[in-house]
Amino acid sequence: MNEQAKQLNDWPMEQKCRALVKALERRRFTARFCPAAKDAAEAVIEHARTAETVGFGGSLSVAELKVRERLAEQGKELLDHGRPDLIPEEKMVIMRRQLTCDLFLTGTNAVTQDGCLVNIDGNGNRVAAMIFGPKKVMIVVGRNKIVDGGIPDAYRRIKQLASPPNAMRLNKQTPCAKTGFCADCDSPDRICMATTVLERKPRLTDIVVLVVNEDLGL
Ligand code: SF4
Repeated sequence: MNEQAKQLNDWPMEQKCRALVKALERRRFTARFCPAAKDAAEAVIEHARTAETVGFGGSLSVAELKVRERLAEQGKELLDHGRPDLIPEEKMVIMRRQLTCDLFLTGTNAVTQDGCLVNIDGNGNRVAAMIFGPKKVMIVVGRNKIVDGGIPDAYRRIKQLASPPNAMRLNKQTPCAKTGFCADCDSPDRICMATTVLERKPRLTDIVVLVVNEDLGL
C-alpha cells in the first residue's frame, strides 16, 4: 500500500478508534488513542515507571510493542509464564504472582464499538488478572479487535478469527487448531473455558486501555 492509500485507510479507522476511546471513558476506563504501536509502547513504559513487577498475560499485541527488553533493562521483574524454560510448577507460581503484580499487560480478544471488552481464556489466569488483583492493568487494543455489533459479534470474532490461530500457536489439541473452524469442542485443551465481558471498569482496578490505530495480534 502506498503512503497516500495508507493515510486514506488510516483516517476512518482513526475516527473509529477515537470513538472507542470515548465509549471506554463513558464506561469509566482510562482510555488513550495511540496512532501507532510505538506510541502504545511509550505509554506502557511511562505507566511502568514505578512498577517493580510486570506481568505478561501472553498477548501477541503486547509482544508487538517490544517493551519487554526495555522493562528488563530498567530492572523490573518480568512475570511471564510463557517462557519455554519453565516447568509446569514454575508456570503456576508465576501465574499466581501475576495476580498481585504492580502492572499487568494484556491484549483483548475483542472490543465492541461501544466499549465492552470481551475475552475467552483456557485457565482463566489472564481474565482474572484483568478484573482484580494487579495494581494496574494495561490493555493493548489493535484496531482489528473492534467489532461494529454487540457482544454476540465480539464472540463471533473470537471464535472465528482469534481462537483457531491462537490454539494452533499454543500447540493445543483442539479441532480448531487443525481445521481453522470452531467445533464448540469438549477437548481438555479447549482454550475457551471461561468468557468474560468487562461492561464497566471493575471498581477496585486501575485499568488503562490503549487503542492503537494499527492491527495488532490475532
Ligand atoms: S471451543 Fe474448541 S474448537 Fe472452538 S474455538 Fe474453543 S478450543 Fe477451538
